[in-house]
Amino acid sequence: MSLAEFALIDRIRARTAEREDVLLGIGDDAALLQPRPNEHLVVTADTLNGGVHFPDDTASFDIGWKTLAVNLSDLAAMGARPAWCTLAMSLPDASPDWIESFADGFFALADEHAIALVGGDTTRGPLSLSVTAMGQVARGQALRRDRAQVGDDIWVSGTLGDAAGALQLWQRGELNVATATLLADYEALRLRLLRPIPRVTLGLRLRAFAHAAVDISDGLLADLGHIAARSGVGAEVDADALPLSAALRGVLGRDAARDCALRGGDDYELCFTAAADQRDALHALAESLRLPLTRIGRIVDGQGVQCEGERGPGGYQHFAD
Ligand code: ADP
Ligand code: MG
Repeated sequence: MSLAEFALIDRIRARTAEREDVLLGIGDDAALLQPRPNEHLVVTADTLNGGVHFPDDTASFDIGWKTLAVNLSDLAAMGARPAWCTLAMSLPDASPDWIESFADGFFALADEHAIALVGGDTTRGPLSLSVTAMGQVARGQALRRDRAQVGDDIWVSGTLGDAAGALQLWQRGELNVATATLLADYEALRLRLLRPIPRVTLGLRLRAFAHAAVDISDGLLADLGHIAARSGVGAEVDADALPLSAALRGVLGRDAARDCALRGGDDYELCFTAAADQRDALHALAESLRLPLTRIGRIVDGQGVQCEGERGPGGYQHFAD
């Protein structure tokens, strides 16, 4: 390892929060962690590649934020409490300024969720950031994709399609991802693309209410399709019920906004199913978290995802899983 890399890792180590269950963190050949007894270890990994998972000119703060956010979102979708993570970085060059503001974004989110960075790897190569995140959940309490039941309501958090809307604007050359804009709607969408908010607290609270859950990274239809396939059930979505932000409707119009909500990815909201007798409890939960929870459909006998109100043959479209 070169001197520059040592300096870089020292920079990162200095930023990491301490946890009592980290017996040995960054600096040895591997970390020593002390998981809680009677809890399952929940492990997930996600990689972001420059130019593929984010535009090349994305600010390093935002790359740092998103690198961790997408992983925390997976833990949230399992109902897990975040604990530790590792970070593998492939960097074309190790500019201290770039690292510093990458770390600003990464640790802003890490500290908020008390997750400790306990190790990683640093190499030279095309820009690529890979996190392995670990969390814990009490035995039998994890939220899984394969537990949806016929008759369940289908719910989503927040609003859908905003990140995809921002990406469309960027692709059309109407939005610069690297700098803030004074156009309020554009800025709202830009932030949804660059700073997704992992729904960790919601995931923890949903353990008491939800049967199945998934985070929406590839678009509602695709990700709900995973719940349907893994649970051996069908899903019906009411397109008129989709929660669309005023910004998305304002910028794209209703039809395009709805299309983003159904097919766009990168929102990192949670989609979950729950028995119909949980409606009041879930509305109360939404209020206490100050996060909209919207009922968008139901789980039915059958397979695949159907969307009512979508243009398609007979105004009713079937999406195979
Ligand atoms: P090794 O060669 O034994 O794999 P390294 O010299 O690559 O170890 O890394 C030294 C220490 O720094 C290890 O504890 C490793 O986990 C940590 N580390 C390396 N890169 C990173 C990084 N990007 N983020 C956090 N920790 C890192
Ligand atoms: Mg070693």
